[in-house]
Amino acid sequence: MNNALLNDTILPIVYMLAAAGFIMAIKWLNSPATARRGVVVGEIGMLLAVVGTLLRFDVVSYQWIFVAFFLGTAIGIPIAYIMPMTAVPQRTAFSHACGALASALIGTAEYYKGIHQGPTVTSVEMTALIIETLLGFLTFTASLMAFGKLQEVLPQRPITYKGQNFLNLGVFAAAAGTGIALIVAPQQTFLFPIFVLLSLLFGVLLIIPIGGADMPTVIALLNSYAGLSAAAMGFVLNNKMLIVAGALDGSSGFILAVIMCRAMNRSFGNVLFGAFGQLQTTTGGKAGDRPVRSASPEEAAQILEAARTVIVIPGYGMAVAQAQHKLKEMSELLAKRGVNVEFAIHPVAGRMPGHMNVLLAEADVPYDKLREMDDINPEMPMADVALIIGANDVVNPGAETDPKSPIAGMPIIQAYKAHTVMVIKRSMNPGFAGIDNELYYMPNTIMLFGDAKAFVSSIVKELGALARV
Ligand code: NDP
Repeated sequence: MNNALLNDTILPIVYMLAAAGFIMAIKWLNSPATARRGVVVGEIGMLLAVVGTLLRFDVVSYQWIFVAFFLGTAIGIPIAYIMPMTAVPQRTAFSHACGALASALIGTAEYYKGIHQGPTVTSVEMTALIIETLLGFLTFTASLMAFGKLQEVLPQRPITYKGQNFLNLGVFAAAAGTGIALIVAPQQTFLFPIFVLLSLLFGVLLIIPIGGADMPTVIALLNSYAGLSAAAMGFVLNNKMLIVAGALDGSSGFILAVIMCRAMNRSFGNVLFGAFGQLQTTTGGKAGDRPVRSASPEEAAQILEAARTVIVIPGYGMAVAQAQHKLKEMSELLAKRGVNVEFAIHPVAGRMPGHMNVLLAEADVPYDKLREMDDINPEMPMADVALIIGANDVVNPGAETDPKSPIAGMPIIQAYKAHTVMVIKRSMNPGFAGIDNELYYMPNTIMLFGDAKAFVSSIVKELGALARV
């Protein structure tokens, strides 16, 4: 095969097919019914993109590529198997960090290569290189910080201090200013390490004031930055596939961040500079000091069996306990006894977008039983029971009723409006945002203390016993 045929005819076709695969993947990932097909098509697209690129004649040596290939495979496969579903958000943050670092290092290598080869770098190429490197390095440290917060090795609460926004904007302006100076005078090599350090520092400073509850938006935003960095890398390396894939990644990450912001009724500015989720100072006493009503699995089963409508609200605790299969069993037993069971899904329940949908789909809960927050909330006052399983922040009425609450304004699933509210969790501990929940002290609330899977299993047993009576 000759060079021209490959580079001018075959590669553009392969890249076009790969890009079509990515676009169809995003379309099909939009619905649980077609998500598997979306994953397969996306994988085929990626395979085409990688194989097509490896066939290029300008790849002079495969040696280092194969070293990286085997190293990445040796690390990636065990991570995929070992990481539990509940750790996917931090794994995603870690992936963003790796991707962004790769992009930033390629930008760095291209800069020094360009400088050594003489003044051949145009200002357009230099602009793309600076954007790639800035976004790459800041996304690297920001993603590592997000990983630390999600893995709880760093404090989840926002850390704020006087003049913080001023300092952050100052560091960003200094990084951008140094970048512009490099575009104007690329041969001023002493500026490049300063530019890199400022970009890395800005990534750290950006995440410090962001609280746990805002992590969904931040992860989506970092995804977008990593994609934009890859698109800029495509301009630097003159690789159309990278431009297309990076632009798709950047724009879909941005759209997801907008959806997450809407789900939490927040603006970007508020997420990035608002220090959302700070410790509450207005709670009416320490959790555990105030009395709550609690019940046994037997009592819970009796209440559920007597209901006409039960709305199940799953959250992160369901994912931790892997209670979705038992939950499905429970809903089938109740349905057999004429109870209408629906599942209310909050957009940020769990620890990743779509977390609850994925788990419930895995347990074969029919899609038409999964109802979105805006759809189910008007029906909540008619529900006999709202059964909350390991959810906390997403049902916290403080968001609606207490203007001083740190999550004031965040839309919630209005479980408190149901006739009876039952909450399965292990203790009175707060959820991810670290704030107390008034719902637990309301007169229509019954706490069901225990591990979600164990408690639902006991309810299933009791429902079975009731059926035999
Ligand atoms: P929360 O983190 O608010 O609450 C989860 C609750 O589950 C805890 O209060 C915990 O209480 C309970 N729990 C934990 N393990 C178990 C178990 N084994 N059995 C029973 N209960 C258990 O979860 P929500 O889903 O309500 O809210 C999600 C939060 O995560 C939001 O603040 C959201 O912003 C944030 N977030 C969401 C992301 C997303 O993309 N969806 C990403 C990152 C963060 P106890 O310890 O007493 O059992």
